[in-house]
Amino acid sequence: MCFKLLKKDKSKSLQNENTDIKAELEDKKMKIAVLTSGGDAPGMNAAIRAVVRTAIYKGAEVYGIERGYNGLIRGEFKKLEVRDVSDIIQTGGTKLYTARCAEFREDEGVTLAAEHCKKFGIEGIVTIGGDGTFRGALDLSRKGINCIGIPGTIDNDIACSEYSIGFDTAMNTAMRMVDNIRDTAQSHDRCSIVEVMGRNAGFLALNTGVACGATSIIIPEDKEFDIDDVVAKILETKEQGKKHFIIIVAEGVGGVEEKAKYIEAKTGIESRATVLGHVQRGGSPTVRDRVVATQMGYHAVELLLAGATCRVVVMKDEKITDYDIEEALKKGSPLHKPFDEKTYEIANAVSI
Ligand code: ATP
Repeated sequence: MCFKLLKKDKSKSLQNENTDIKAELEDKKMKIAVLTSGGDAPGMNAAIRAVVRTAIYKGAEVYGIERGYNGLIRGEFKKLEVRDVSDIIQTGGTKLYTARCAEFREDEGVTLAAEHCKKFGIEGIVTIGGDGTFRGALDLSRKGINCIGIPGTIDNDIACSEYSIGFDTAMNTAMRMVDNIRDTAQSHDRCSIVEVMGRNAGFLALNTGVACGATSIIIPEDKEFDIDDVVAKILETKEQGKKHFIIIVAEGVGGVEEKAKYIEAKTGIESRATVLGHVQRGGSPTVRDRVVATQMGYHAVELLLAGATCRVVVMKDEKITDYDIEEALKKGSPLHKPFDEKTYEIANAVSI
């Protein structure tokens, strides 16, 4: 009896001791956070999942911040556990929501966000988004909060990385949509002029155009573009027996309605314009986007845990590595990203 009591007492004190040690360990755990910002892209959820699980696997605590820098300015940190990111690897959009945040462009906004982080003990943040998001991350890191960026945009216009999460899914979605349009263009002997997204960059348009066998691809990078060249190509290929035509126009060029009217007037071929729009931003991410997002998420957490800051995770020569954010932003506008001239040349050659 006595022994039992003693044992019980001992186990109780051991239990207390264990609880104390556990609390101490919890206190020592590094706290990091993750947010998505700017436009959403398929694969962002896979990146969030990778960040959360890698952090926990490596002994850190991880918090989600909702609606980009808005949640950070409000100081809203939500602890995420392993199972909180179950069932999202296959979904488009972002579980953490995303938004633009005008306040974060001002010094007061960034200062307030940094104060919230310090008060809450957040030592580092993974920011998933485009170059605007990285500009915000750079400002925040100057206030003493470590930041690592992950490129997430369907436009693939991050100059320092060969690839950004969402690009492959968006290309595949655009390709499927244009395939559908081709069915009806073929049935009616029409010309379809289709605008695909990509902001000021033509990467999405070029790849979609090649994959869909477009007659012409109109992209902002080609400064010598002339609509009459498109008309001439349609007439030339019509002469050779071609009966329906697909023209892909990048968002950065736009004006598909006017182009359709012009082409119809000059060729006599019924021409229809379609703007694919946001259908390209959604949908289940492809294998490539899920895998790259997972690799980038893992790499970002490794960097934060090693005490790094101001880095953006990038793909270089098909390998995941990282790059200084400030240097990355100095590379300037997306149009400074080398354009794939060879593929553009090939597209021209095979669309005869
Ligand atoms: P996308 O390529 O999809 O547009 P993005 O990250 O470039 O993504 P932006 O709207 O440019 O999207 O930027 C997202 C957010 O990043 C902005 O709403 C703002 O909160 C923050 N941000 C952008 N530029 C700056 C800046 N110069 N300083 C501080 N924060 C910025």
